[in-house]
Amino acid sequence: MLDTILQQLAPTQTKLIAVSKTHPPERVLELYRQGQRIFGENRVQELVAKYEALPKDIEWHLIGHLQTNKIKHIAPFVACIQSVDSWKVLEEVDRQAGKHGRSIDCLLQFHIAEEETKFGFDLAEAMDLLQSPAFRQLQNVRITGVMGMATFTEDLVQVRREFRQLRSIFDGLRALFFQNQPAFREISMGMSGDYLLAVEEGSTMVRIGTLLFGER
Ligand SMILES: *Cc1c(COP(=O)(O)O)cnc(C)c1O
Repeated sequence: MLDTILQQLAPTQTKLIAVSKTHPPERVLELYRQGQRIFGENRVQELVAKYEALPKDIEWHLIGHLQTNKIKHIAPFVACIQSVDSWKVLEEVDRQAGKHGRSIDCLLQFHIAEEETKFGFDLAEAMDLLQSPAFRQLQNVRITGVMGMATFTEDLVQVRREFRQLRSIFDGLRALFFQNQPAFREISMGMSGDYLLAVEEGSTMVRIGTLLFGER
């Protein structure tokens, strides 16, 4: 399955985040041995346990909602936090990254789905954040793009519309706040059920769990 997905992603050079949540480290190692290096987890405790158990050249992405008091546990090693959904979280990531003398790449998570349970900014909130003087003071985070989850539905027209919305949020933010900053380039969208659609709509990173590891 890994090879098939990689072949599908190759023409657009879309990155694959293998979402290993709930699966044991041995399963991660299987994919690692096939060459996969980027893995995603949605819980801090599980992420830390896998980081400790597995090879250190794995690039770990946090993709789930983050409580501020847990950020310190992943700050020493996490490569990217895709689920930054508030100023409070971003500020604390900056503080903890600073303690370790590093900078952490972050994606701003946007609420594009119909469901109310999914976390994330709307465009106005994100613009307020990016315009604020406090944001400009941050030294240990780098905003590298946006992330979003589409509605869990069979309605592909709707899913496509939501991906387009995220793409246009990305384009707008880039034009307003990130001109001349090539590091702002990621649109993380697409999961097992909708990643091909996401790639068509400009995804640069897909987050795939079930297709690679089986049902959770
Ligand atoms: C679990 C999860 C995924 C992967 O979902 P699958 O449908 O198993 O591919 C992707 N993104 C986020 C944010 C997740 O929590």
